[in-house]
Amino acid sequence: MLDNKKKEQIKFIYPETLISQDEIEIYEKEEKELISERNPFEMAKKQIDIVAKEMNLDDNIKKFLKSVERSLIVSVPIKKDDGNLEIFEGYRVQHSTVRGPGKGGIRFAPNVNLDEVKALATWMTWKCSLLCLPLGGAKGGICVDPRKLSKSELERLTRRYTAEIINIIGPDMDIPAPDVNTDSQIMAWIMDTYSMNKGRAIPGVVTGKPIEIGGSVGRETATGMGLYFVLEALCNKMNIDLESQKIVVQGFGNVGGNIAKILCEKGCKIIAVSDISGGLFTKEGLDIIELLDWRDKKKYLKDFQNENYEFINNEDILTLECDILIPAALENQITQLNAKKINCKIILEGANGPTTPEADIILKNNGIIVVPDILANAGGVCVSYFEYIQDIHSYFWKLERINQELKNILVNAFEDVYYLSKEKNVSLRIASYMIAISRLAKAIELRGIFP
Ligand code: NAD
Repeated sequence: MLDNKKKEQIKFIYPETLISQDEIEIYEKEEKELISERNPFEMAKKQIDIVAKEMNLDDNIKKFLKSVERSLIVSVPIKKDDGNLEIFEGYRVQHSTVRGPGKGGIRFAPNVNLDEVKALATWMTWKCSLLCLPLGGAKGGICVDPRKLSKSELERLTRRYTAEIINIIGPDMDIPAPDVNTDSQIMAWIMDTYSMNKGRAIPGVVTGKPIEIGGSVGRETATGMGLYFVLEALCNKMNIDLESQKIVVQGFGNVGGNIAKILCEKGCKIIAVSDISGGLFTKEGLDIIELLDWRDKKKYLKDFQNENYEFINNEDILTLECDILIPAALENQITQLNAKKINCKIILEGANGPTTPEADIILKNNGIIVVPDILANAGGVCVSYFEYIQDIHSYFWKLERINQELKNILVNAFEDVYYLSKEKNVSLRIASYMIAISRLAKAIELRGIFP
């Protein structure tokens, strides 16, 4: 039986006169298929199949890589400010710790689910392996709309979630970090809860902390800086003058906001940006500093008033004509439904998993170069790794060193990926996966399967 919410949804999508039992069934079937096609963990497994075939990967290793080591589902009850109890579902998944402790962010969002977290954890394994960091892949999240919570409710939620996952995290087990809707304050609460429980300060349990309690300079902007270094390296290879490029950025949070600012400062024209409310577009180039200031006042882009800017929704922003498209919001944004309409030369994946494998094929056939997430947005985990090393050594680096080491690691990874893609005549994504997976396969082979 359909609940009222579903009926409302159908009424909203189909005109009243068309609603019949048959149509509702068709709608439900289509919706189910779409959900399965867009299931991020199915997508992550499909990507493993594609690469395994390309590199003749041993079937046992493939089987091993397609499953996650550990998934923890926790119930997170909190007392709301009005005295009522609310219970949220939280997750922490470790996909692989073969090459080192798990590493990956924590996401607070209304659609978070176990399969999404499993996919994100899997992608973290590839990312750490591609950069040759001695870390594995993990991810966490809570199914919650944090905008509906007060600051003290958010703190209680974070602390209770930390308490629920405390036995499987730690500097030598699994080190969380920020992701969608989580920030340095949330990392500070996690670090404090963990430390109080262990009876001493343990800053190395999370990265992305405030600098005052063991955070690293440059972590806040690291993913944006990394995107820039990788894009610059690609433009050098392709003889593209980066400064003259027209750029579109979907997502205006940590990743989207920082890369938009960096590229704007380098002289590029950012012709459109969007947040969850929709976006703004002008051929002349947006004033990014003014828009970041608006965002930092907790306001949505749709409410920004400028007569020269046109409002654009989150679907249309992806198909705008531009040189470089940067999806920096969520996964599953470029699918077989819109890939044919994408009108750019380069896609630089700021978000994790924004392009489905089906869309990848269409983009390749249309000559669009996709710089894959595990390479493009790896700056975040790279500086998280630097933060972790600094915490363990209690010795902190200067920003120049952070950015120089970040650039070295990312440009080296880019060079390896670029040359392999030329040598094997495969996309940058396949080449990135081939490097990441072969390193991991070697580690599995060396360690063997216990017992
Ligand atoms: P964030 O919360 O700071 O920003 C997310 C942005 O996306 C916001 O502008 C939000 O309004 C927008 N958004 C949310 N839902 C949307 C939707 N349905 N449609 C369009 N826009 C939507 O998050 P972030 O840290 O910038 O992360 C963005 C992406 O980058 C995620 O895929 C994340 O996993 C990935 N990533 C983040 C980091 C990092 O260091 N923060 C590192 C690597 C990858």
